Amino acid sequence: MMYIIQLTQKKMKKVNKRIFPVAASLRTFLSLILIRVVLTAKITAPTPSTQFSPSLSRMEQYWSGSAIKKNKGMVENLQSYGIIKSRKVAEVLENIDRGLFVPNGAQPYIDSPMAIGYNATISAPHMHATCLQLLENYLQPGMHALDVGSGTGYLTACFALMVGPNGRAVGVEHIPELVSFSNKNIEKSAAAPLLKDGSLSVHECDGRQGWPEFAPYHAIHVGAAAPEIPQPLIDQLNPGGRMVIPVGNVFQDLKVVDKNSDGSISIRTETSVRYVPLTSKEAQLKGE
Ligand code: SAH
Repeated sequence: MMYIIQLTQKKMKKVNKRIFPVAASLRTFLSLILIRVVLTAKITAPTPSTQFSPSLSRMEQYWSGSAIKKNKGMVENLQSYGIIKSRKVAEVLENIDRGLFVPNGAQPYIDSPMAIGYNATISAPHMHATCLQLLENYLQPGMHALDVGSGTGYLTACFALMVGPNGRAVGVEHIPELVSFSNKNIEKSAAAPLLKDGSLSVHECDGRQGWPEFAPYHAIHVGAAAPEIPQPLIDQLNPGGRMVIPVGNVFQDLKVVDKNSDGSISIRTETSVRYVPLTSKEAQLKGE
């Protein structure tokens, strides 16, 4: 009996010797995977996810659910998450009620993009706030701002309030129904007097061509993702001005394009985003 036990122990040692290195490397392998998972989670967590399928900005939702019932609550949330950083951006978002710009029945104050028809979306609040923060210094009273792919007119109205009656806020949108929808929305908002006096206007056109009439612009915002930055938009940017534009197809980055005083261009990436494409009207309506 003892002999059998000794023999079994010997065999087990042999087997252990053979198995241990395998088990050890398996353990190392699993630990590496675990570290990788933890690191990836840390890296991806702060990237906000904007719009739903097509149009949106950052790839993250800061809050969900319908608990936020008022525009003020939305602004407070954006402040508490550190997306709104300045008093000026908080003020404009308090004054332009997002609830006036979403289609009937939608919940305007949750942090999510929403369908507005024609394969387009209104961007999520955190994306609008992010873009306003990036452009704040280029939206001083008296300055010119261009909003390409103005959709609901929400951001165009915000721009108009910031640049004021002596400035110029221009929205360009290629879906005629959205142009009239945006004008109706703006008429109900705090930017209505600016629409009336003409310092705010929305035009139907292919936004890739910009709107030369009121160029150069100190601020250009593009609300749809371009495969590459359209040259007319660069041309219409004032030296010292800034453009914020999502660039890419499946993978998109929000680019910050600064035109220096000598006319040269500096480009940096702000964050990963997901927007509807900046494309032809036909392709958009076909959902391409
Ligand atoms: N920023 C807007 C809309 C974002 S959706 C908002 O938040 O309300 C993107 C918009 O860009 C859509 O309204 C779409 O119709 C428009 N668009 C896409 N390609 C365009 C182009 N070539 N010219 C003008 N508008 C365009």
